[in-house]
Amino acid sequence: MTIPSGTLSIIREQIRRLKQIPDGFYSKRFADINPDDIRSQDGFESLPFTDKDALRDAYPLGLSAVPARDIVRVHSSSGTTGTPVIIPYTRQDVLDWAVMFKRCYEIAGVTRDDRVHITPGYGLWTAGIGFQAGAELLGAMAIPMGPGNTDKQLQFMRDLGSTVLTATSSYALLLAEEIERRGIRGELKLKKALIGSERWGEKMRARIASELGVSLYDIYGLTEIYGPGIGISCDAANGMHMFDDFVYSEVIDPKTGKPVEDGELGELVITTLRKQGAPLIRYRTHDLTRMLGGGMCSCGCGYPRIDTILGRTDDMVKIKGVNVFPGQIDDMLKEIDGVSSEYQVMIDHFEGRDRFTLFFETDRIDEHRRALERDVAAVARMRLGFAIAPMGVSLGELPRSEKKSTRIFDNRY
Ligand code: ZN
Repeated sequence: MTIPSGTLSIIREQIRRLKQIPDGFYSKRFADINPDDIRSQDGFESLPFTDKDALRDAYPLGLSAVPARDIVRVHSSSGTTGTPVIIPYTRQDVLDWAVMFKRCYEIAGVTRDDRVHITPGYGLWTAGIGFQAGAELLGAMAIPMGPGNTDKQLQFMRDLGSTVLTATSSYALLLAEEIERRGIRGELKLKKALIGSERWGEKMRARIASELGVSLYDIYGLTEIYGPGIGISCDAANGMHMFDDFVYSEVIDPKTGKPVEDGELGELVITTLRKQGAPLIRYRTHDLTRMLGGGMCSCGCGYPRIDTILGRTDDMVKIKGVNVFPGQIDDMLKEIDGVSSEYQVMIDHFEGRDRFTLFFETDRIDEHRRALERDVAAVARMRLGFAIAPMGVSLGELPRSEKKSTRIFDNRY
């Protein structure tokens, strides 16, 4: 995607402003950058990336690009390790975020007559309050439940007549199963569900949709860039629309940092265009997706689209010039009858070549197992674009692991 000239001039002015902040986050980083050089795609792509470590190093308020008295709120990303990242918001940032979130609801067909049941968490986390502010700006009724307490969730859902569920995919599934188990679907008025974007398979999606009897929408966002609500999928269910008047999105090869073509997989990188409290230039999200070209969406909405998030770039490996990530292998194995969902990949360098061994579990034995291995090899050649060594093992033979990323072992380096 080519960067529009209007977007370039916004970025240019933003860099000019950021460079002038004494001891600002970007004043030193961009010391050698002349904003006047940012007049073309190449000029923009010469700007360095910003990564999460730099944000961590700026703890507590080093990211702030405004006087302290202009900050009205902070949020913090839920870092699993180490120092948290604190994101300061001005009054305008808080409003801009709500404006985007209102748009998300509108694209999903939510109106002020709806009752929005909000289960994501509140507090330092951005989720709950984002869903709430957007619903209120729209004029819908916000029901700020927060997570947990299933009995109360279901009671309020029934008694208040919630029509829209907002949740993570795992919590939506838990509620769907509980509703099914209690046989109370007929007492509920749910029509739609807005699900925080994370990688979740088609099987899970289908279960939530059918057990709840709702239309599903993927909502995208991250704490570092406002929070959820900077993009959402539509009724065309063909990727997520990104609000390009607030954020500029690009997709790069995570290994080389070079932009990839539309339709090619890579890492989503975001530049904020209006953020005041903590503007970010070329922030690496580590989310794996692709830009979807093809012009206007059939829903009639002109915002550019990215694909559903397919995983984290940290989990990706490059083999024989092809980027491979766990989600791709999950999807591939799901298509093949007789293969269970457990698998493990071993990559090594053997006789001068990269070798990709795919261990998968199956209940088939002897020649049936050999035949299945040939099927797996054929599908892999088609889907991944290179030859693999398939290795069927018995059910329960592979170690169980919580994290998807530990399913790929790269022994080449
Ligand atoms: Zn659309």
